[in-house]
Amino acid sequence: MQRFRYLRASGELRDHYAEVSLAPGDFIYPCFVVEGRGAREPIASMPDIYRLSIDRLLDEVGSVLRLGIDKILLFGVIPPEKKDERGTAGFTRDSLVCRAVREVKQAYPEAFVITDVCLCEYTSHGHCGLLHGDDVENDATLPLLAEMALQHALAGADCVAPSAMMDGQVEAIRRRLDGEKLTKTRIMGYSAKYASSLYGPFRDAAASAPAFGDRKGYQMDYRTMFQGIQEIAADVEEGADYVMVKPALAYLDMIARASALFRDTPIVAYQVSGEYSMLRLGAAAGLFDERRIFHEALTAIKRAGAGLIISYYAPEFVRGL
Ligand SMILES: [Zn+2]
Repeated sequence: MQRFRYLRASGELRDHYAEVSLAPGDFIYPCFVVEGRGAREPIASMPDIYRLSIDRLLDEVGSVLRLGIDKILLFGVIPPEKKDERGTAGFTRDSLVCRAVREVKQAYPEAFVITDVCLCEYTSHGHCGLLHGDDVENDATLPLLAEMALQHALAGADCVAPSAMMDGQVEAIRRRLDGEKLTKTRIMGYSAKYASSLYGPFRDAAASAPAFGDRKGYQMDYRTMFQGIQEIAADVEEGADYVMVKPALAYLDMIARASALFRDTPIVAYQVSGEYSMLRLGAAAGLFDERRIFHEALTAIKRAGAGLIISYYAPEFVRGL
């Protein structure tokens, strides 16, 4: 008989045998940016998460940096009247995200700034690419994503993260960046991004719900795993420096397999809005202790093999460490 219980007999022993621990450097903190000054708009479906104007964003970045969280992911949220069919507001030199990047990097050069690159936050129809009839056109969307990534990089983004799930998007962006000698700007591919019901609160936060249809034509079917591996392999081949599995908790098998197969490329797991709100609301309803449930979920994501975790809970989690 092996005496496993001996290994768990005290908190000290459990700490000695723990295989995984979480540190501030494991996290990427996602932020929603809006126009204006002094804006801090609550998001009804995401407790304690706000859309921030750039001045407020600077305060927020300062406070997470002091916690040791040095990586942020920016999403631009613009009013409906500024959106058009092509998402033009997203790829100009002075777009909301470009201005936010410039100000953040100026105030905090040590912050690692990642930008979301997709059309859905800027298109009137809310889809991630250009439409032809009701179809999202893959190849015609690529130059627009590349242009958006280029503008973010010129503004000072350390890393661009294409999330549109268009085939060839990483290659198109890498070529455009390299063509402008921006060889050091990194690319984080949203490689295995599943069409998930867990994105509901995000669409509320980013006002990016599709006006018609859904995104199943380009995001992955959750009944598949090998396609996800192929998507990751393609992004690595095209030049991605980080690859992502999204969502996280319901896709730990995918994270585990990807981290075993792609050892040279960090696997980033996105604990998405629905995961965050589910745990927050469950804790608020008294179903479980908030800190403990997040500790368990985030540890599981890292144990599965995630090198970095994108989480709305990161600052609160680190405060409790
Ligand atoms: Zn999108």
